[in-house]
Amino acid sequence: MREVETNNRSFQDRKLIEYLAVSPKDKKCSCGCSHCFLLHSPTMKMAVERSEERIINDLHALTEQGYKAFFCTTELFYYDKWKEIFAIAGYKSVRTNGYPFVSNPQLIDDVKKMGVKKVTFTANAGKYHEGLNLPKEEIVKKAIEMSNGGGLVTSVNILLNKKNFKNLEEMAEVYMNLGVDYFIFSRILPAEGISNLLETEDTEEIYKQVADLKRRFPLDKTGKYFEVSGEMGSKYRPNREKTGFYCPAGTRLLAIGLDDKIYPCSFMTQEQYRLGRLEDGKIILDKEFDMKLKDPFGCFAHDINP
Ligand code: SF4
Repeated sequence: MREVETNNRSFQDRKLIEYLAVSPKDKKCSCGCSHCFLLHSPTMKMAVERSEERIINDLHALTEQGYKAFFCTTELFYYDKWKEIFAIAGYKSVRTNGYPFVSNPQLIDDVKKMGVKKVTFTANAGKYHEGLNLPKEEIVKKAIEMSNGGGLVTSVNILLNKKNFKNLEEMAEVYMNLGVDYFIFSRILPAEGISNLLETEDTEEIYKQVADLKRRFPLDKTGKYFEVSGEMGSKYRPNREKTGFYCPAGTRLLAIGLDDKIYPCSFMTQEQYRLGRLEDGKIILDKEFDMKLKDPFGCFAHDINP
C-alpha cells in the first residue's frame, strides 16, 4: 500500500496568492474540468501577454514579498520552462489531463526527480460524463497505468453534475480497478455553455455517498482515500466545526487575474471585486475587500456566474 499525501495547498497559510496563467496559446487545453476553469474567467478576455520569463520573475517577486504563491494554470507541461515554474511554486503534486504523459513517458521520471509523489488526472467515466468536454477515456486510463507503473500515487478528479452525482461508486470503480488510490469529487463550475450544474441541496447526497465509500473502503485497510473538493464550494459544510473553515477570500487570500489585476479569490475575478493591480511583480492594492459582501462560512464564489 502506498502512502497517500494530501495536497500541498493549505488555507491555513497566512499570505496566500493565486497566480492565474494560461499555458501557451498554440497548445490546446480546453476541457471542461475545474482545472481549466480559469479559461472561463472574466479576466480571460483581458488576458495580458506574459512570457515564461515574466511569469518566473513574478513568482520569485511574490515569494520574496512573503506570499505563498499558488500557480493556477491550465496544463503545466505545455510550458517550456515548466520545471522552473514548478520548483518556485513549490508543488509536491501535479495535475495533468494525461496527454503529456502518454506522448512523453520520460515526464514520469522527470516529476519524480523533482520530488513529486502524486499525480491527479481528470477522470472520464464514459457514459457518466457523456456530453462533457473531457480528456479522452483511453488517454486517461493509459496515463494512469503509466503513472502507477512509475511508482507514483495516482489520483482522479471526478467531475459531478446533475446527471451523475448519484453514481459516485460506479464512476470510481473503474479507476479503483486501475489501481487509483485517491478520489476527489468536484462539482462542475458555472461557466458559459455549461448546464446541469449541481445545486447546494445536492451536496448532502454527495457527502452520504462519500461517507459510504469511506466505510466500505477504509483507508487503513485499502489505501483508498475519498475527498469532497472544497466541500463542493457550497454553503452546506458538514465538516465546518472539524475543519474550522473560514473563507479566506480577500483576507489571507488574494488572486492575480489573467489581466494582472488583483481579486479576492480565483473565482471572484469579476470587475466589481477588483482590489488592485500587479506591477513589476508587486501587489498594489487600491482598496480593501468589503467583508460585508461575503458569507464567511459559505463559498462566496459558489453562485457567481461568469
Ligand atoms: S470564495 Fe469560495 S473558492 Fe474563494 S476562497 Fe472563499 S470558499 Fe474558497
